[in-house]
Amino acid sequence: TTVSAAKPNYIITTDATYPPFDFQDSNNQYTGIDQEILKTIAKREGFTYTLKPMSFNAATQSVTSGQADGIIAGMSITDERKEVFDFGTPYYKSGIAWAVKKGSNIKSLSDLKGKTVALKTGTAGADYALSIQKQYGFKVTYFNDSDTLYNDVVNDNAQATFGDLPVLQYSIKNGTKLKVMNAKSPYESGWYGFAVKKGQNKQLLASFNKGYAAIKKDGTYDKIIKKYLGAPA
Ligand code: GLN
Repeated sequence: TTVSAAKPNYIITTDATYPPFDFQDSNNQYTGIDQEILKTIAKREGFTYTLKPMSFNAATQSVTSGQADGIIAGMSITDERKEVFDFGTPYYKSGIAWAVKKGSNIKSLSDLKGKTVALKTGTAGADYALSIQKQYGFKVTYFNDSDTLYNDVVNDNAQATFGDLPVLQYSIKNGTKLKVMNAKSPYESGWYGFAVKKGQNKQLLASFNKGYAAIKKDGTYDKIIKKYLGAPA
């Protein structure tokens, strides 16, 4: 006889609006690079999960507070976060860019003096902007989601934003009237990682890494990237 163990069910949290990594399709189903990676890995490794989309800042906090088991949300692996999270194998290379409204006469960071920069709460892009805020003399305003933030710049309430290059580029490709200023030289290039609370959910993390290695090897990962970005990573 065979004994079948119950599949573990995890609570996984994500950013509700972070295309092309996490977003809802026309049937309100969550999709995107992160979601396809997670779904494929769960199926392969035999676990199920309940997805909890929310703001990025709330998502990271729900993992550190133990309300969620894991997070996949275009989340940058940073030294600061490594103090409180354990990250899986890095799965996508990103970097921080700054952007202005299309047609804006802002040409360099020095032009931001006295202007307002829109930042997304709790993100690596916000941290980077704060690290140069004094030097360039801009004001900051915070948003919980990327769409509202982009609209703030497009509507001239803020004059610039700092965020992840591939996400800004995807949004611009899909019609957002922004322009990336440093597409060729993003700041702080770094990787995205799946994360659990430090010291917790070791089995979930191991399953993610095992499944990730398999989908890198068999071409599924490349297929997913190609589907959303048109070129292999
Ligand atoms: N990669 C950025 C970070 O980790 C932004 C993530 C996001 O907004 N979903 O801070």
